[in-house]
Amino acid sequence: MMSRPEVLFPLFAELETLSGVGPKTAQHMAQLGIVAPRDLLFTLPHTGIDRALQETVDGVGLPTTVTVIVKVGAHHPSRNRGGAYRIHVEDAQTSFQIVFFHGRSDYLQRVLPQGSTRVVSGKVEMFDGTVQMVHPEYIIPEEEISDIPAFEPVYPLTAGVTQKTMFKATRAALKRLPALDEWIDSGQKTKEEWPDFAVAMQTAHTPKSLEDLSATSAARTRLAYDELMAHQLTLALARASERRFPGRASVGDGRLQARVRAALPYALTGAQERSISEVAQDMAQDVRMNRLLQGDVGSGKTLVAFMSLLIAVEAGGQGVMMAPTEILARQHLEGLQPLAESAGVVLEILTGRDKGAERRAKLEALQRGDIQILVGTHAVFQADVHFADLRLAIIDEQHRFGVRQRLELGKKGSAADVLVMTATPIPRSLALAQYGDMDVSVLDEKPPGRKPIKTALVSTGRMDEVIERLRAVMAEGRQCYWVCPLVEESEAVDLTAAEERFKRLRAALGEGVVGLVHGQMPPAEKDAAMARFQSGKTGVLVATTVIEVGVNVPNATIMVIERAETFGLAQLHQLRGRVGRGSAASTCLLMYQAPLSETGQRRLEVLRETEDGFRIAETDLQMRGFGDLIGTAQSGVPRFRIADMERQGALMAVAQSDARKLLAEDPALDRPRGRAARVLLWLMRQDEAIRLISVG
Ligand code: ADP
Ligand code: MG
Repeated sequence: MMSRPEVLFPLFAELETLSGVGPKTAQHMAQLGIVAPRDLLFTLPHTGIDRALQETVDGVGLPTTVTVIVKVGAHHPSRNRGGAYRIHVEDAQTSFQIVFFHGRSDYLQRVLPQGSTRVVSGKVEMFDGTVQMVHPEYIIPEEEISDIPAFEPVYPLTAGVTQKTMFKATRAALKRLPALDEWIDSGQKTKEEWPDFAVAMQTAHTPKSLEDLSATSAARTRLAYDELMAHQLTLALARASERRFPGRASVGDGRLQARVRAALPYALTGAQERSISEVAQDMAQDVRMNRLLQGDVGSGKTLVAFMSLLIAVEAGGQGVMMAPTEILARQHLEGLQPLAESAGVVLEILTGRDKGAERRAKLEALQRGDIQILVGTHAVFQADVHFADLRLAIIDEQHRFGVRQRLELGKKGSAADVLVMTATPIPRSLALAQYGDMDVSVLDEKPPGRKPIKTALVSTGRMDEVIERLRAVMAEGRQCYWVCPLVEESEAVDLTAAEERFKRLRAALGEGVVGLVHGQMPPAEKDAAMARFQSGKTGVLVATTVIEVGVNVPNATIMVIERAETFGLAQLHQLRGRVGRGSAASTCLLMYQAPLSETGQRRLEVLRETEDGFRIAETDLQMRGFGDLIGTAQSGVPRFRIADMERQGALMAVAQSDARKLLAEDPALDRPRGRAARVLLWLMRQDEAIRLISVG
């Protein structure tokens, strides 16, 4: 199905084809992302107004919206320009006034002639001792009363688009709803008592009460599910298409792993063992592995990665591990080199800084298979880098790469297994949205013996005290990180802040003991600054968030984060994870600019209360919302129009298993339910998915 099914044409026609929508309105609606009748349908009312007919305004709690039948009395035009034009009216029990500002007499005489009976609906309030209705939304003859919905849906608006326009336009769009074959698993639909798509859409736009607008109503839940199902189907198709490529079966004999185990001063955690065996099982199959290793900072992902790389080597091949930055690539090299030596394998690094003859020599060694494990930056995937027999590619710190980039990597064409690692604990619903095409291993257990990190909130006003504290800590031979505020999106502004702080700390603590790293430094300088800190030459490292991921300096015991209130919770958690890596007790000082807002305070307190990254992530989701959490468009996760991930997140797991099951039973989507699912993909504008079916 390469082109849109005909049954959907009316929903994807130009907006102007709807009665009551002209070119101007269409332009304005585009501001809301509404460019076709389909989009109108997926823009649901967010609240509603009760406009059921009442006897009288007498005794209703004011202010409130009331609909009543009135007998129109005398008009009292305003005496001054711009004043109130008042019209005396009587309902069944009492009298009140209808008020217009800038009211035009001729117009008002026409719509509310004295002596006539009219239905009026509008907000009634008490002003100066009189009950009044200002600018009623409806003024109509009694026989047209059915024009007023008993409960009126309220839509999101933008400049130039009124409620009435939205209401009319959605009614027109509803008339175009086709009857579509069902794509939801019938068992699931029956169990949840969900209506058909068209019925659900109709119901969602014609709520009878506030309850009908809640995220738990059957109609809304079904539509949310449709969105999630479409997204999961896209991911499932991506997964299936990846799995069509032949993989390599890599079976290790455990020989090299055993040497490393023997050399390690500690035992692996249960979670590490489990993850390694999950990877081993995947690698042993001739389908390409596409697995995510999720683990909080310090959960020991590096070792799992290394053991996995050894499986590739044991099977006679090579492995590569890519880090997002030069610093992290070097750190992996340093951390893994001793392990590689104990295993007796050759480990090398390749980054953008390798040039000329040295680089050529490395590439040749790689192509000959003399280098068995390569670590590096993006440079490891440059076009002229050839492996003798690449079996496993590991991408560290996945959150910097989106779904798209990951798919790109897959297109490299090699049959290598892929393992991506992320240190960002994310709520399950989000993990499923972002990584739903992958299989997931979770390191949910930390190596034993970690000291808890003490977390405290201090205001910027106490900066001098904090600096004194650093002096004391350094006197004990310990080290500190000082993370500078994210002032703005712009690196340049961050930089100024960092440089200023650097100067102040250097003035207070002495030349030579304070280092600085930031994203705009020439790479060599950055390395040098990192190396000085890692070796203990500098006691304080002032940094922008470049240290966020992965840096490991066990002797660092204090983490100061300035303007902590401007960071995301997950990011703060990541930063904090840089300390508490050694045997000494560690502290994280969250510095904030007073006064802290109530939510700001609550957010930071979550960090004080727990070190559980998953709990922090759930809180972040509740407080910031899904859209903010996934951040940029490059995550590949759509902003759902209907699904409310804070409240309907549990549906994501159902949608994933439903989508995978559907594809397992009908890989080409050409049985009846599969065909219906194709229509769903078109309906949800899942271009990527449609492309994948077309290829297949
Ligand atoms: P992550 O990358 O998940 O943040 P690392 O792999 O850097 O964590 O591990 C953090 C620290 O824990 C490292 O110093 C590592 O040597 C140590 N470590 C890893 N696994 C264990 C274990 N099973 N027992 C004790 N320490 C471990
Ligand atoms: Mg790591």
